Amino acid sequence: GTDSTSAASSGSGQEGTVHETTAGEVAHLLQSARRVVITPGYGMAVAQAQYPVATLTEMLRSEGVEVTFGIHPVAGRLPGHMNVLLAEAKVPYDIVLEMDEINDDFADTDVVLVIGANDTVNPAANEPGSPISGMPVLKVWEAGQVVVFKRSMNAGYAGVQNPLFFNENSVMCFGDAKATVQTILNDL
Ligand code: NDP
Repeated sequence: GTDSTSAASSGSGQEGTVHETTAGEVAHLLQSARRVVITPGYGMAVAQAQYPVATLTEMLRSEGVEVTFGIHPVAGRLPGHMNVLLAEAKVPYDIVLEMDEINDDFADTDVVLVIGANDTVNPAANEPGSPISGMPVLKVWEAGQVVVFKRSMNAGYAGVQNPLFFNENSVMCFGDAKATVQTILNDL
C-alpha cells in the first residue's frame, strides 16, 4: 500500500518491505474486528503495557468483540511471566490461553496484536537451518491481519531476524507499547 516503506533491517541482513501503521489506524481496524487474539512478550513487561492492554480488552469485549490471549511457554524472561503481569492487571483468567490451546485458532482470527513479542512469534522456527529451528511458536501469521507493537526492527532475545515483520498481512506499529496502546484507547 501507500504506507509501505522499503527498509533494510538491522542485524542479520534480511531486507523486505515493512508496512507501518499508526495507533489511529489500529483503533479503526479493531472497531471492525469480531475476533482478536493478543500475544504478549518480553516487551509488554518492559513497557508495563499490561494495564492499557487490560483496559483495551475490557473495552473491546464490552463492544462484543471476542478477545483472547495466547501465551507462549517461554514468553518474557521468567516462567509464567505473562500470566503474572496479566493477572496483576486483572485480565480474566478464562480468556488467557496457553499456546497449545490457541494455536489452531489463528486461522479464524481477524486481528492479532503482538505486544512486544518477537522470538515466540517467529515463523523462521519452521525453517531448517534457522538458529531457532524446531522451537514451537505461536502461528500468528495465519490470522487475517497481524499488528506488531515494538520500538524498532531490532531482534529479540535469540538475536535472529523475524520474517513475520515483512509479511503482506503484517503491519508494524512502532513505539513504546504502553504509550501506543494508550493512544489506541483514546482513539476508540
Ligand atoms: P523477545 O525477547 O524475543 O522480544 C521482545 C521484543 O520486545 C524485542 O524484540 C523488543 O523490540 C520489544 N520491546 C522491548 N521493549 C519494548 C517496549 N518498551 N515497547 C515495545 N516493545 C518493546 O520476547 P519474547 O517474549 O517473544 O520471547 C522470549 C525470549 O526470551 C525467547 O527467546 C526465550 O527463549 C527467552 N527466554 C525466556 C525465558 C523464560 O523463562 N520466559 C528465560 C530466558 C530466556 P524493540 O527493541 O524493537 O522494541
